[in-house]
Amino acid sequence: MYSLTEENYLKALFNISNGSGEVNVAELSKTLDIKMPTVTSMMKKLSEKKLVHYESYKPLRLTEKGRKEAGLIIRKHRLTEMFLVDKMKMGWEDVHDIAEQIEHIQSPVFFDKMDELLGYPKVDPHGSPIPDKNGKIVWIEYNKLSDCKVGETVKLAAVINTSSDFLKFLNAREMRLGLKIKIKSIEQFDKSIVVSYGKRQKEVLSNVVCERLLVEKEN
Ligand SMILES: [Zn+2]
Repeated sequence: MYSLTEENYLKALFNISNGSGEVNVAELSKTLDIKMPTVTSMMKKLSEKKLVHYESYKPLRLTEKGRKEAGLIIRKHRLTEMFLVDKMKMGWEDVHDIAEQIEHIQSPVFFDKMDELLGYPKVDPHGSPIPDKNGKIVWIEYNKLSDCKVGETVKLAAVINTSSDFLKFLNAREMRLGLKIKIKSIEQFDKSIVVSYGKRQKEVLSNVVCERLLVEKEN
């Protein structure tokens, strides 16, 4: 069993490196907003527990065991978010902070039951994949809305930014996962996109927004 702090470090390492790859201490320190010496001493601790490959002045890497543990914490987080939205009817903008707390509950049976009640979902309410019971994550390849072309119709599949401000922005425009969006025109100057969907014939989305929306192309 690991402490709450250790679990949060593992999760941050996993998220920064997208599950594999390397992370440097400075980057981790910035993401967690924790001073470098503190991060370094935690990395030594995690390395003793065989969760992280750590050598001075070299990038960090999660070990296989570390990846698995991180994946399991993320599984608990994402299942919780799905439960809060699907079963408790909460908004997708309101579930993250609660999941941050529930993800540390040490009871596999609790989350297995949750998974079962939800019908074994593959993704969370933001479209992010839910790792399996071994902590393994299957990444889904999507396109950014900003990379789409005029005339294409796409389906909103996931959001990259899951901050409640961004999700409220989408709520105000009635944008949710599964929505079919048609690209009507693209402004060359700033790459903003005019789209239509539902009853909305002309909605202008900035490039900042389009970079954060992941879509599936319709064939
Ligand atoms: Zn979350």
